[in-house]
Amino acid sequence: MTTTKKLEAIANNLWWTWTPRARTLFEQVHPEAFAAAGNSPHAALRAVDEERLADPELAGEVDAVYDAFKAYMEAPSEISDAPETAYFCMEYGLHESMPLYSGGLGVLAGDHTKAAADLGLPFTAVGMLLREGYFHQSFDENGNQQANYPPLDPEKQPLSLVTNPDVEPLRVSVPLGDATVQVQAWEAKLGHVSLYLLDTDHEGNPESLRGLTRRLYQGGDRERIRQELVLGVGGLRLLRALGNQPDVYHANEGHCAFLMFELMRELMETGHTQAEAEAAVRQESVFTTHTPVPAGHDRFAPKLFDTEMAGYASEHPLSVDDLAAYGRVNPDDDTEEFVMTVLGLNLSRAANGVSKINGRVAQQQWDDLYPDLEVDDVPIGSITNGVHLPTWTAAPARDFLAVHTDGDWAHERHTPEFWAPLAEVDDATLWAYRSKLRARLLNYATDHVAHQSLDMEADLDPDALTIGFARRFATYKRAPLIFTDLDRARALFADAERPIQILFAGKAHPDDEAGQAFIRRIYEISQQDGFRGRVLMLENYNMEVGRMLVSGSDIWLNNPRRPMEASGTSGQKVAAHGGLNLSVLDGWWPEGYTGTNGWAIGPEATGVFAPRGPAGQKKEDARDAESLYTQLETSVVPEFYTRNAEGVPKAWVNRMREAMTELPPAFSAKRMVIDYVNTMYRQPVEQV
Ligand SMILES: *Cc1c(COP(=O)(O)O)cnc(C)c1O
Repeated sequence: MTTTKKLEAIANNLWWTWTPRARTLFEQVHPEAFAAAGNSPHAALRAVDEERLADPELAGEVDAVYDAFKAYMEAPSEISDAPETAYFCMEYGLHESMPLYSGGLGVLAGDHTKAAADLGLPFTAVGMLLREGYFHQSFDENGNQQANYPPLDPEKQPLSLVTNPDVEPLRVSVPLGDATVQVQAWEAKLGHVSLYLLDTDHEGNPESLRGLTRRLYQGGDRERIRQELVLGVGGLRLLRALGNQPDVYHANEGHCAFLMFELMRELMETGHTQAEAEAAVRQESVFTTHTPVPAGHDRFAPKLFDTEMAGYASEHPLSVDDLAAYGRVNPDDDTEEFVMTVLGLNLSRAANGVSKINGRVAQQQWDDLYPDLEVDDVPIGSITNGVHLPTWTAAPARDFLAVHTDGDWAHERHTPEFWAPLAEVDDATLWAYRSKLRARLLNYATDHVAHQSLDMEADLDPDALTIGFARRFATYKRAPLIFTDLDRARALFADAERPIQILFAGKAHPDDEAGQAFIRRIYEISQQDGFRGRVLMLENYNMEVGRMLVSGSDIWLNNPRRPMEASGTSGQKVAAHGGLNLSVLDGWWPEGYTGTNGWAIGPEATGVFAPRGPAGQKKEDARDAESLYTQLETSVVPEFYTRNAEGVPKAWVNRMREAMTELPPAFSAKRMVIDYVNTMYRQPVEQV
């Protein structure tokens, strides 16, 4: 095989995105083109010339990486007899060069799919080709968020158009209202796993329908329900056209739940009654619900549902009214909105939230669906999220772990035994590791803000306690909480001996004015005395910015209102880098926090779902700000700056050691996917 062919084979499998050596290889092929296209191997390959490829050193590296790729592809499955699974999700966070995600849900789906690939599961994923995926964020000189939608060209991505035997695009049709849309798909490969990305943006559709798969979570309800018909119904029709007959369907969040209607249609068309079809669909479907935010669940007004589902119902043995009943808490109440989550719960055999608290909250949220059951018996369990460590662990951290852990990263990183030897690493070595990763981040951040339009210059101290805060700027995540009391905050930031500094990143939804105001507020504070240069707002939070922040921050700050954090995964990414969480006890953190491997803000979330009014929120905000300041002033900052004769903060390093041995295996995506296989995908399933 020629060097070019090998490079193409590697570039065409997203394995390269979580393999540092492969990534570095493409960077070496053509550094400028690689970086200019958002770290894209395809861009590097398009730009490279023959001469460069003929370089024997490069060719040798290509051979080595290709051999590693082949070994990955030929490795046997780690789980025997896993059922064949089709996984549906609206968004996937795979890599910064493929912006098909807006936040945590997508990143989780990407990590799930990658871990399924690593485990060698029989697994197929279905999503959307979002050509204008989520926006590129920049700031104007006043800190106003600007949203741009640079179009993604699938021809320039590691994607191939799915074709039929005549080498024409394979297309399936989906009725939408009184129209019909033709859906095609692009295939991405992650190891042996195929991810099919549905696409309506082609010449076979009228302009009014082409845009349906272009953007994420925009447009009105009509566009949304149509998008969801494309995902659920179109996705299953595509799998069938490819001859795919999985044993289990995993609907990840409600957006894709129409897939269950399509499964019912198939069964009823082969002669089953409605009751039989319902029971059979339930046997083969599992459902994951994430959001405790009531507005986060798609709801469609009865009239809209009737109009938009009319065409689909004309192909279905059931009427629009029959279909509508599956999405209502009270099936007989035709004034109720149709809720996708209710559909998912009604037609699945098992359902889960994404952390223990989130599962309990979901039980309360959907209690009315199960009038005969006590809240504790509502059949929604939990599988706590985890992160794909190869994606999120920085290359220098991988090198460090290779020396100081015991076992095989590829196969054993989800086991406590793999991480246990870190308990024996001496203080100075661990502290040098932390300092090196911090310095790497500060260089990156300084450079990043220098390229922004915002008037903001970094003045970062390589030895100062560095806090990272990156997430969507939804208001319940309370990004500016640390600035509640500006004098108290200034005392922390401007301390001559023991200063702190903070790096923010995050996008607000383009329609979320309050979230955008948070960005402006942080910008304004960053211009004030005592904060200048030490409070930075990095534009365009994406997977690259995320990787840098989670690897370099000493403290990962997380302070949402309880119990709004479904799981949160960014805090899980810091542990392997020796970063420590300072977090509200919500989402995953109560399961990870021992009292000595990080810090808590405020009391534990009770898992009681009682959304507060504005007065209650104000009280909660004040209490949590007080707790945050107290933790920083009395524990976090003193521990960081109390050094022994070697210059090492002993108590701090002890916390690091604990976090590094305990958290990465427990909150790894491999552990998570193994849990899904054992408790959700395998039959028969006991209700969790
Ligand atoms: C990890 C990650 C998320 C999800 O993390 P949260 O803790 O839920 O905010 C979102 N976006 C990016 C880019 C990430 O890397």
